[in-house]
Amino acid sequence: MGRLICISNRIPMGPNPSGGLVVALHDTLMSTKGIWIGTSGEIVENPENRLRPVEGGPFERMCFDLSENEQENYYFGFSNQVLWPLFHGRTDIMEIHAEYLDSYKEVNRRLARMLAEVVQPDDRIWVHDYQLLPLAQYLRDMGLSNRIGFFLHTPFPTPLALQALPNGTEILEWMSHYHVVGMQAERDVRNAMAAMVELGNAQELAGGFVYMEPRQTRIAAFPIAIDADEFRTLAEEQVQKLPAGVLKPERRLMIGVDRLDYTKGVPQRFKAFGEFLERHEDWHRHVSMLQISPPTREGVEAYDNIREETELLSGRINGQFADISWAPIRFINRPIPREVLAGLYRASDVALVTPLMDGMNLVAKEFVAAQDRDDPGVLILSQFAGAAEQMPDALIVNPHDTEQMATSIMTALAMPLIDRRRRHDALMDRLMKHDVAWWSKGFLTALG
Ligand code: UDP
Repeated sequence: MGRLICISNRIPMGPNPSGGLVVALHDTLMSTKGIWIGTSGEIVENPENRLRPVEGGPFERMCFDLSENEQENYYFGFSNQVLWPLFHGRTDIMEIHAEYLDSYKEVNRRLARMLAEVVQPDDRIWVHDYQLLPLAQYLRDMGLSNRIGFFLHTPFPTPLALQALPNGTEILEWMSHYHVVGMQAERDVRNAMAAMVELGNAQELAGGFVYMEPRQTRIAAFPIAIDADEFRTLAEEQVQKLPAGVLKPERRLMIGVDRLDYTKGVPQRFKAFGEFLERHEDWHRHVSMLQISPPTREGVEAYDNIREETELLSGRINGQFADISWAPIRFINRPIPREVLAGLYRASDVALVTPLMDGMNLVAKEFVAAQDRDDPGVLILSQFAGAAEQMPDALIVNPHDTEQMATSIMTALAMPLIDRRRRHDALMDRLMKHDVAWWSKGFLTALG
């Protein structure tokens, strides 16, 4: 069998690249002498039209640079101000400009040309995420007939939402050039299938296949996962190393961990905690929320706005409820290393994972894996996270319903040990069965 060629917008960097995807694909890349290809993260005046090797690392990597213009229009523009909001149900904040789309296509065409130089006929190609949707079509234009699969890490929009994009049907055509299109959740598969049929004049066939003349594609859910066993061990070790002062014996800890993104529902979460504190004066000083939100995509207006909104809300809630020995919210705008997070999850009584829309949400899975099974914490999970399909034993909430969320916080804090254990056992069972190796094997088997 040929190599696995894995392509994502950003290549995993450093001598020991880490992260969920790297863990998932490490073995296959090693055993097939595969390559990971993506942008370098460097912005240069005249990018070379050639992939260059990245030194070191356990498997082969190749990268290319973007120009300032490409970074603005392909990356911040079409990828992050058009497709990201559209795919997360925020058509109202899309910024549609012709030069964004032109640049998006041009970067994908340029990448296809560079790839054609390195791909061999028996290689399998796995393309990741919304920045690279047209890649298969451009590779086909260059005469490549390899097996090519695509995995979308975000949700997929409804046919109605897709019509907010002037070239919505073109996205469907791009998808039709893949042998397999993988989605995070069944809801995304249903949306994509409906869009193909309603807007793309395609025909749904048995077995998850869809025929869009003259090609046939399979669309299926492959919910991304974590190495639950590894994460549990990490959490066990790391909880011992937490600095003094993180935990207080008389105080319960609730944790939230999300990039500072408008899809993550952090303002709604703060409001629900405010509502909880209004209702339960007896809990004042006995519970605090640790919200870790590293900034991303800075300079994009919607991201500057969410930062202001969350700072204002946390400040207001702290101002209203804090006293000289307690502040209800600790709001941290810096990235925290993965191993420290593992310890913090284990030390927490409750996790609030309440996105307004999310492809999967790995924090939910990490929190569950990190718990002490004899005395586990409680996961409060949004019905709009892809993870909710696989985690019905969490406390499922609607993040738009402040009162319901405030009630769920109370339910979580007061939950008897026997219920916490039962829910955790059920959640952990599924995490162990459906781990990250199961995920990548499932996709690669479908790709053939
Ligand atoms: N993460 C981290 N440090 C932070 C915040 C997040 O290492 O300060 C990690 C977190 O442990 C998780 C990932 O970033 O593995 C976030 O993945 P998720 O699917 O929850 O959300 P995404 O950011 O991909 O939308």
